[in-house]
Amino acid sequence: MNKAIFKQSNGMYAINIVSACGVFTPKQFAGLGQATLKCDVYRLKLTTRQTVVAVLNEENLAKLETRLLALGLSVSPYGGTVRAVKACAGNAALCQRALGDALDLGIALQEKYLGWELNKDVKIAVAGCSRGCTDPLCADFGVIARSRDSFDVYIGGRGSTRKPLHGQLLAENLSTVGVFQLLEHVLDTYSNLAHPKERLASTVARLGVRAFAPPEGTFTSRNEQLDDEFLAFISKEGEA
Ligand code: SF4
Repeated sequence: MNKAIFKQSNGMYAINIVSACGVFTPKQFAGLGQATLKCDVYRLKLTTRQTVVAVLNEENLAKLETRLLALGLSVSPYGGTVRAVKACAGNAALCQRALGDALDLGIALQEKYLGWELNKDVKIAVAGCSRGCTDPLCADFGVIARSRDSFDVYIGGRGSTRKPLHGQLLAENLSTVGVFQLLEHVLDTYSNLAHPKERLASTVARLGVRAFAPPEGTFTSRNEQLDDEFLAFISKEGEA
């Protein structure tokens, strides 16, 4: 797995910093500011994936990375991997339009899958309602809440290209557990069926969305009882 550290036109290096779907605690935010001062960071820039890029001289990269880890932040993985998850402010405490806990789900998905190795990068986006502030239809795996613990999943979307694609509906009314189960199934299927270096959107376009459909009745719908152990996992990750 590569780290997202890239040489810039001015000879400096950009390092891509991941937090919990763009959320920082005040302590992390202040600590990041202090770390960037200590490491002579030239500029900080927000990215479309809700990460932060810091531009600095090569000799300070390792020092900044050490400080990031101490703050509970990390350097984004890059190149054949699950990338930082985009999640909107949709949860009970924040956006009033939220129909389900998109932010908590996005953070839990990132905690589990960030850095998983695959053919090509896979981008995940989660939105708390159909307004789709995180562009879930332009993600490889897009999740949209329709009510509490009920989510629709779209796959095969693609943005950041001259030929953007909207994802296609793969499953409706999944529980939180079901979203995890379906993502794992989609990633496994992608790993098995994709041509070398083929993006998920291209595999879906080539084989059709049904090739990624799970066998009937495999996954947990919102009406089924949630697994206690899994809920404990979600709660724990949400506190991190
Ligand atoms: S997608 Fe919906 S829930 Fe999420 S921030 Fe936008 S309006 Fe709020």
